[in-house]
Amino acid sequence: MRIAELFQRGEPVYSFEFFPPKTEAGYRNLYRTIGELKRLDPGFVSVTCGAAGSTRRKTADLVIRIQRDLGITAMAHVVCTGTRREELEETLGSMADAGIENVLALRGDPPRDQPDWRPVPGGFHHANELAAFVKERFGFCIGGACYPEKHPEATTLAEDVDNLKRKVDAGVEFLITQLFLDDDDYWSFLERVRAAGIEVPVVPGIMPMVSLANLRRCMVLSPGSKVPARLEADLAAAGEDAERSLDVGVEWATAQCRDLVQGGAPGIHFYTLNRSPATRRVHENLHAT
Ligand SMILES: Cc1cc2nc3c(=O)[nH]c(=O)nc-3n(C[C@H](O)[C@H](O)[C@H](O)COP(=O)(O)OP(=O)(O)OC[C@H]3O[C@@H](n4cnc5c(N)ncnc54)[C@H](O)[C@@H]3O)c2cc1C
Repeated sequence: MRIAELFQRGEPVYSFEFFPPKTEAGYRNLYRTIGELKRLDPGFVSVTCGAAGSTRRKTADLVIRIQRDLGITAMAHVVCTGTRREELEETLGSMADAGIENVLALRGDPPRDQPDWRPVPGGFHHANELAAFVKERFGFCIGGACYPEKHPEATTLAEDVDNLKRKVDAGVEFLITQLFLDDDDYWSFLERVRAAGIEVPVVPGIMPMVSLANLRRCMVLSPGSKVPARLEADLAAAGEDAERSLDVGVEWATAQCRDLVQGGAPGIHFYTLNRSPATRRVHENLHAT
């Protein structure tokens, strides 16, 4: 199923993101998680690609297995960093042969110690170039990333949205946002995006923050993101009580998702970190009458 078509059905599309585990035990845990989340009838799931394309093959293999063995539409994240065009071609070709129809075209984060990062010879510099290549050479439905609070490298949000438009013009058919914790950021971003003539679905990316440590880690990975004071205070108050922290994170994410879905967002993409309990509870809350 092409993901862009799911969004045309007019109902919220719920999707779950996983990463390729490093160990056999990690794979067993992931398959258990996917089994539990499959009961929620996701529109699709996606599998990330490690820094600089380090899990390119593992990501492709996992996506193929999930779609073939579990019957869930699966999308691979594909990154430009550290990857030659021929390597991309090989991976994309093998996924196309296995019936995969969707990819998320990303630049990937440059190595932290290389501020003047350049693509490998023959590689791509930005996601719009990768999207154009995928569109020209393969028939995939292409998704892309976007940043309601601005990508950290962009000088202004206006500049970032101009670059986003290039990505959509290159063939990206839907966008998934970086995680955010205040829905106002999504709604004002959406207004800007639409004003810039970008008409594709913009899917909110949501991660339930299940502990203060989880919140702080995410903020390191997503520099510049706003942390609502009340969420931080409630997680701090929960301290070492894991159940209470989980309740806080689930309640916050549920309120976010309710507002987003009721306001007409095309769906919710959950960052699961390969675990199901928080995502399941948020999903149940959304569907409780
Ligand atoms: C939903 C989602 C999933 C992700 N999954 C992964 C993953 O699996 N693996 C991983 O390594 N990373 C992942 N990331 C992180 C992402 O790779 C990084 O944020 C990366 O720094 C930017 O990727 P991009 O595709 O948005 O890049 P781009 O669209 O290339 O944008 C990067 C920066 O360059 C600017 N820019 C864009 N196009 C141009 C242009 N043509 N000319 C000049 N400037 C331009 C933008 O304004 C922005 O500041 C994900 C992010 C999101 C939101």
